[in-house]
Amino acid sequence: MEPGCNYIEGGWRASQGTATLPMIEPATGQAYGHIADSVAQDVDAAVAAARAAYDGAWGRLTATERGRIMSRFATLIERDAASLAATEARDTGKPDGVARADIVALARYFEFYGGAADKLHGETIPYLDGYMVAVVHEPYGVTGHILPWNYPAQMFGRTLAPSLAVGNAVVLKPAEDASASALQLAGLASEAGFPPGAINVVTGSGAGAGAALASHPGVDFMSFTGSPQVGQIIQKLCADHFITCTLELGGKSPQIVFADADLDAAIPVIVKAIIQNSGQTCSAGSRLLVERSAYDTVVARLAVAFADVRVGAPAADRACGPIITAKQQARVQQFIDRARADGIPVLAEGRIDPDADPAGFYVAPTLFGPVPRDNDLAREEVFGPVLAVLPFDDEADALALANGTDYGLVAAIWTRDGARQLRLGRKVRTGQLFVNCYGAGAGIELPFGGTGKSGHGREKGFAAMHDFSITKTIVIHHG
Ligand code: NAD
Repeated sequence: MEPGCNYIEGGWRASQGTATLPMIEPATGQAYGHIADSVAQDVDAAVAAARAAYDGAWGRLTATERGRIMSRFATLIERDAASLAATEARDTGKPDGVARADIVALARYFEFYGGAADKLHGETIPYLDGYMVAVVHEPYGVTGHILPWNYPAQMFGRTLAPSLAVGNAVVLKPAEDASASALQLAGLASEAGFPPGAINVVTGSGAGAGAALASHPGVDFMSFTGSPQVGQIIQKLCADHFITCTLELGGKSPQIVFADADLDAAIPVIVKAIIQNSGQTCSAGSRLLVERSAYDTVVARLAVAFADVRVGAPAADRACGPIITAKQQARVQQFIDRARADGIPVLAEGRIDPDADPAGFYVAPTLFGPVPRDNDLAREEVFGPVLAVLPFDDEADALALANGTDYGLVAAIWTRDGARQLRLGRKVRTGQLFVNCYGAGAGIELPFGGTGKSGHGREKGFAAMHDFSITKTIVIHHG
């Protein structure tokens, strides 16, 4: 990896602009390197390289050959796992153990989609007498990918692997606040056997390189993960050149706990679902809806578990690390301060290690409840380790609350009543529903994506391969 360079056409290329952006360590607030703040000409070069690969060496490979290269890539990720995890922990502030788990998931994306590359079968359709109809899945050509900073390495796999598996060539713009792992990974592409141009990575700001990519006429499909605000911009840019996109946006995901729930099982899962990655998870379980008759018991047990959460530097390997940037830290802290000012009771707070660097971007995980239904904390995405608890009266009330935000990404129902699991579960507006369990971002095999302000389109599983490909219907008259 060359400092300040992009990865284009199988090699490191200096940006055609001169601007750079600092790489900042969230645990200390210190800059430790820089990336290129790339310009439109860099994006042009990356898209041209991808097009040439798609029209050439990459596009000529069979699905099996593509899959083998992807499987080799997975093996290289496993070989370099320790170094990749160290890169990720430093760049994002993730606890070391979490960073290592993220690299395991990243390798698994390439393993899964490497194996799936030659299994995206089409179909035949019975039609008129004397005809045969086949529906085949074809790649779009060049896909553009814009990522956020919260799971940079995992998302490199989540967004690129299914697109490559179906045969697209890809151009990725990682988040300006966390580009290190994407660059390190790009450096493994040619060793795995990807032809030059199959994978390209261009760093830089959203308004610069990001907008240049989403509006590029040479891009055939866009995949965006990030905030709803920017998602809207991307969709409009795509509309300008008549391409479609998947949007993986935010969430305010509810966990609904009934009085008959197994609390021994539920409590640790509920805590993990909000503190995972310091709450910077689109599918974090950030609203806890509790049946009123069990409210006191649930919050008492939850408060004990929450007060036990420790926050520290990556090497301390606590449950939470710092927040990604000073700006996000201030945003999360503002939510906490406003909720306190509104008089919402603080039920418990986690503890920041006393030896954590005061210049690091730390926030103490905070449990609030009961949160009024119209309060920001009950409706807005905090994207930090803040859990809002709200009581509900009955099943209908639980449903109204669960569906009462603009989001719809993940939800969970905790109850031993099997009929209620289904009756309620079928009505909750969500892309994924968990029953007596929760998996923020879990399961490479499981289709994932939102509705409403959480976005549209599906990633993960075979669903992602469908989204990254387009069908062609072939009608043959054989008489
Ligand atoms: P963001 O939307 O600010 O940035 C995401 C990416 O978009 C970055 O790479 C950024 O450079 C780029 N970008 C910004 N402005 C752009 C523009 N005008 N044109 C093109 N690209 C542009 O989001 P963030 O701050 O990185 O991440 C936090 C948000 O992302 C949260 O709301 C969170 O819920 C959401 N998120 C969703 C998922 C998911 O899978 N659904 C995953 C992670 C994060």
